[in-house]
Amino acid sequence: MEIAQKMEKMSPDEKKQVMMKNRSICICAKCPSYTTCMKVKEELLFCSTGKSTCTVEKKACICPSCPVTGMMGLSHAYYCIKGSEKEQRGM
Ligand code: SF4
Ligand code: SF4
Repeated sequence: MEIAQKMEKMSPDEKKQVMMKNRSICICAKCPSYTTCMKVKEELLFCSTGKSTCTVEKKACICPSCPVTGMMGLSHAYYCIKGSEKEQRGM
């Protein structure tokens, strides 16, 4: 079972722990599309939290090479522009 599915069954505290761990693994800050605005707002983990509140120019997305992609069974990219994995799956 994907962690994403397992997470549905987790308590809010357990979910928060997984989110915090994934946030520490997130490599968005190294992405060419990552902006100063995002940095200032400490935005990361767009695959879970959805679109950035900043204006983002599509330069590249390094999500496919992020460990979280495999761990969570993610199948999309450009989460900061297009929305979270769930949103992009139409969930
Ligand atoms: S998949 Fe992308 S948005 Fe999600 S944690 Fe990794 S780098 Fe960040
Ligand atoms: S979600 Fe993708 S495009 Fe956006 S900052 Fe993270 S790695 Fe870059």
